[in-house]
Amino acid sequence: MSDERPIRSADQIHIRNIVPSTSRRSFLAGAGGAAAALLGGRLAGIENPLVSTALAAGTGFATPTYAPIPEGALGPPLNADGYFVGRISGELYWVTDSAYIALLVSTRDGVVLVDAPPTIGRNLLRAISAVTEANGRPSRVTHLVYSHSHTDHIGASFLFGSDVVRVGHRLCRELLLRDNDPHRPPPTVTFQDHFVLSVGGERLHLDYHGPNHSPDNIFIYAPDHGTLMFVDVLFPGWVPWYQLAVSQDIPDYIKSQQTAMGYEWRTLAAGHLGRLGTRADGELQIDYINDLVTSAQATMASLNPGPFFQQYGNNAWAIFKAYLDAASAQTAAPVTEKYLGKLAAADVYTSSNAFSIFEFALRENGGVLGPFGVHP
Ligand SMILES: [Zn+2]
Repeated sequence: MSDERPIRSADQIHIRNIVPSTSRRSFLAGAGGAAAALLGGRLAGIENPLVSTALAAGTGFATPTYAPIPEGALGPPLNADGYFVGRISGELYWVTDSAYIALLVSTRDGVVLVDAPPTIGRNLLRAISAVTEANGRPSRVTHLVYSHSHTDHIGASFLFGSDVVRVGHRLCRELLLRDNDPHRPPPTVTFQDHFVLSVGGERLHLDYHGPNHSPDNIFIYAPDHGTLMFVDVLFPGWVPWYQLAVSQDIPDYIKSQQTAMGYEWRTLAAGHLGRLGTRADGELQIDYINDLVTSAQATMASLNPGPFFQQYGNNAWAIFKAYLDAASAQTAAPVTEKYLGKLAAADVYTSSNAFSIFEFALRENGGVLGPFGVHP
């Protein structure tokens, strides 16, 4: 599936296939440098496993120590400009800054770019130059596909000017018209259920299967390359980001993981972190979610809110906060233990992911209210 031909370019980027490097440089060791520079101060206040504790020193906030990141969770080393571009197959490439991922298809008629994360920013232009200088194809970006409207995935899309054809879901356009952000011009080509984007001998299938992480998040499938791009739902090698990637509909988020696995792909571009995914990554993430649901059900059946009522009396919010904090911790405990060493940052975000499962998969949408059910 992969083409190993190295590509030379002025800035000596190495185009590689997707086999994870066993000699990858640990950018975490220098996280005060490359990763921190990429992520910037904007993210420094959020729990972020890519930012070293050194960044947090002196801020006055607690900085817990977490388990080391499993080697297999990390992607290839970045070049001096702070990015990596690699070949997936044929003329389909991926670009990462170790926090975000974009795809680019180099066609006979120009480049189709999928997402434009602001942290990669102008390195997208450098990656495109490297690829097209090597293969002799046109470097002009003719089409820009939006996975969804969120700024962290398309906030550099303004870099590609007003001539580029922007493609996204109908709801993506509506959300971007509302946001009115000059960094994210709304798509002008939209669709409802299915759209095939054919450019210069290459094709991408764009599918909408309903809301999941966001109302407008789509599946971007390259059938000729066995590759699916689906953003903010599956996280290869890592547990999902805070509260299941702050997803807006947890039952549909869970369902969309199965929908993703229903496509015939070998390679997953999940939009985040520094490496691509395999089907084993997808299956493991689904196992993690299933284990959270099972643990949340056990917690619902066993956790007694009585002591919280006793402690907080007429402060209803304090009672619920204490109950849900305890439920999250109890739900997370066995799952964290099981996945430490298997999924990176299991000790960082499993408790907040457990909250999303307990509150939204069970209580709010599952009708499982436990001790807060119908009064007798
Ligand atoms: Zn998002």
